[in-house]
Amino acid sequence: MSASQNWIDRGLNRVATTYGRYPLVAASGEGCWLTDVDGKRYLDFLAGVAVNNLGHCHPRVVEALQRQAETLLHCSNFYHIPQQIELAEKLCAHSFGDRVFFCNSGAEANEAAIKLARKYSVEQHGERRTDVITALSSFHGRTLGGISATGQDKVRLGFGPVVPGFHYVPFNDIAALKQAITPQTCAIMLEPVQGEGGVNIPSPGYLRAVRELCDAHDLLLIFDEVQVGCGRTGSLFAYQQEDVEPDLMTLAKALAGGPPIGAMICREQHAGALGPGTHGSTFGGNPLMTATALAAMDVYLQGDVLNNCREMGQYLLNQLDALKSRYNFIADVRGRGLILGLELTIEGGEIVKTALQRGLLINCTVGKVLRFVPPLTVTKEEIDQMLEILTGIFDEYQEQT
Ligand SMILES: *Cc1c(COP(=O)(O)O)cnc(C)c1O
Repeated sequence: MSASQNWIDRGLNRVATTYGRYPLVAASGEGCWLTDVDGKRYLDFLAGVAVNNLGHCHPRVVEALQRQAETLLHCSNFYHIPQQIELAEKLCAHSFGDRVFFCNSGAEANEAAIKLARKYSVEQHGERRTDVITALSSFHGRTLGGISATGQDKVRLGFGPVVPGFHYVPFNDIAALKQAITPQTCAIMLEPVQGEGGVNIPSPGYLRAVRELCDAHDLLLIFDEVQVGCGRTGSLFAYQQEDVEPDLMTLAKALAGGPPIGAMICREQHAGALGPGTHGSTFGGNPLMTATALAAMDVYLQGDVLNNCREMGQYLLNQLDALKSRYNFIADVRGRGLILGLELTIEGGEIVKTALQRGLLINCTVGKVLRFVPPLTVTKEEIDQMLEILTGIFDEYQEQT
């Protein structure tokens, strides 16, 4: 029996069944490559679902993690933590924000944003003002607040009663959003580019119009940049490519270049709603993760990675676009920076499985959108290698149809 099969059997026996896992047992990673316990190498165009933006085991990230691990692992938020302070300073210096709440995941960051929005609005406008409008096909995490905010029925199935007060409108439809606003609305929460919902890009002017609605009705605008922040779209944050700033922004996934951390960034005028004792997280902003995120931020801010993201993103978009005329089952190709979606007219699940067998990691969202979110350090050669595997599979599908 292979080492992989042994681990798979043990995992299926004892690990919670929440994920339907592919038959890959991870051992190590370097750059855009993941190696399994039997030594097989995979070209990683999933990157831990947009987490390993700097590639696997980026030396700067590893070094910061190791150094901090030898110095101080954990310290309570009852005390001040220098690495946490420095990271907050850095995030504010490079965004619209004035203050940062640290946590450990994207869902937690969204919980913090929703709690702040509710408390601020109730204090300002009265206790009925607690509703949040979000988009259909959105994804905001797996906590009860997260699934309540998520505009996909399937994530709530069987978990009710969910948190009340969430309303969903089609993404990119400003008229629908306008209609959904009531005197009870306190916030609008959107992903600037939808990730899990199939890589959906807003039309020019949509987010600007959302901002104007928020200003007109005194609503908080929350951007969930858990997936598209940290360089993924070619700018440090996705909102920076739109003529608009949010009031609250959530980050997680790639913020520390791999290790877990979450953050909720807000403006001074709203920050007071979460005063001492109102919210917290034992591990949030711990020295180990904030020191690591500081190193990752330095790499993002240095510029080369973002330049490469824009260049390689354009190259990959062009190459995928060219496939449309070759294969009749491609419905659409879209993306921004290095989050790209290839929409199929057929189910994508089998293509993902075949790709894995041939050494390529991609995934499929909403059943028919192949998603490409490689490390932002990906090279042209690696993209070409990926395309060779992909078109090899596509050729076989073309023959069948
Ligand atoms: C992944 C994701 C989340 C949830 O993050 P977790 O760290 O898994 O809790 C929330 N919002 C968006 C947009 C995401 O892509």
